[in-house]
Amino acid sequence: MTILLGLEGTAWNLGAALVSEESVLYEAESTYKPKYGGIHPREAAQHHAAELKEVVSRVLTGAKEKEAGFSLTRIDAIAFSQGPGMGPCLRTVATAARALSLSFKIPLIGVNHCVAHIEIGRWRCGVRDPVILYVSGANSQVLAYRSGRYRVLGETLDIGIGNALDKFARYLGLSHPGGPKIEELASKGTTYLYMPYIVKGMDLSFSGLTTAAKEAIDSHPDEKEDVCYSFQETAFAMLTEVTERAMAHCGKDELLLAGGVGANRRLQQMLRTMCHDRGGTFYVPENRYLKDNGAMIAYLGLLMLTSGVTTPIESSRVKPNYRPDEVEVTWRN
Ligand code: AMP
Ligand code: MG
Repeated sequence: MTILLGLEGTAWNLGAALVSEESVLYEAESTYKPKYGGIHPREAAQHHAAELKEVVSRVLTGAKEKEAGFSLTRIDAIAFSQGPGMGPCLRTVATAARALSLSFKIPLIGVNHCVAHIEIGRWRCGVRDPVILYVSGANSQVLAYRSGRYRVLGETLDIGIGNALDKFARYLGLSHPGGPKIEELASKGTTYLYMPYIVKGMDLSFSGLTTAAKEAIDSHPDEKEDVCYSFQETAFAMLTEVTERAMAHCGKDELLLAGGVGANRRLQQMLRTMCHDRGGTFYVPENRYLKDNGAMIAYLGLLMLTSGVTTPIESSRVKPNYRPDEVEVTWRN
C-alpha cells in the first residue's frame, strides 16, 4: 500500500490528509475567516503558519489511533499544492512540505490544485473520462482530457464565479464566504430581473454581472431575494451553456462538477437537467471534496508518485499562476 501525506493551502483553507490507493485514511483542516471583507493573502498565510503544526499532527496522531500498524515510516511521499493560489499562502505550505520531506527523507511532489480537484472527483465518483466544470473562488474553467493533458476549453476572462458571488455578498453586508448566503436568499426569489449574460465563444465574464447586481440592489433595496435569484440564474445559465457546448464538441456524455461553488444546489440542478436532456450523466462528489481539501492533494500526489513523478527541491518553487494544462498527465492513458 502506498501512503501519501498531502498539504493544501492555496487560499483560505489549510488542509492535511493521509491517503492510500484504497481510501482517505485521515483528514484535518483549519479555515481562515477574515474579520471583515475578503481573504487577505498575508493574513491567510499567517493563519496557515500558525495552524500547520497542529493540523499535521492531528492527521498523524489520528491515523495512528485509527489504523492499526500505521507509523510515520509508512508515509511514502509528501504532496503539496504548488499552485495556482495566493503567493504568501502557497509559500507557507511549500516551506512546511519541504521541511517534512527532508526530515522524513521521503520524496516531495508539487501538485496542481485544479488537477487535484479533477482527480479526487474522478476517484470519488468513479467516472472515467468526463468533461469537467471547475468552479471555485478564483477559477471558473471547463476542461477535458485529450492527448496527455487536461485542456482548458473555456474559462472566465475576469473573475471566478465564487469571487463574483463573494463580492456581491459583501456588498449586501454578508460575511465571507458569500456563496452559500446568496444561495439561501436566491431560493426565496421569484421574479427575474434583467442581468447581463456574457458568454464569448467558450469563455465567460462575471464582473459586469456583479456590477449589474450591485446596481440592481441600489435601485431595488427591498428585493434582495430577487436580485440574488437573478444573479444566480444568469451566472449558472452561462456556465451551463459553455459546459454543454464543450460536451457536444468533445463528444463526451459525462460531466464532473468540481470546486467550492459546486456545492450550490441550483447549479447542480441546472447541470443535471442539461446532462439528462442530452442523454448524459452528471457526477458530483461530496461537498468536502468539492471545497479545497488535503485529500485531493495527497491523492494526486499518489497518482504522480506511482507514475514516476516527484519534484526535486530545486523545482519546488510555488507557481501562483500554475495552469492545469501545463501539467503532463502521466497517470492516465
Ligand atoms: P474553493 O475556492 O474551491 O474553496 O471555493 C470557495 C468558493 O465557493 C467561495 O467563493 C464560496 O463563496 C463558494 N461557495 C461555497 N459554497 C457555495 C454555495 N453553496 N453556492 C455558491 N458558492 C459557494
Ligand atoms: Mg480550489
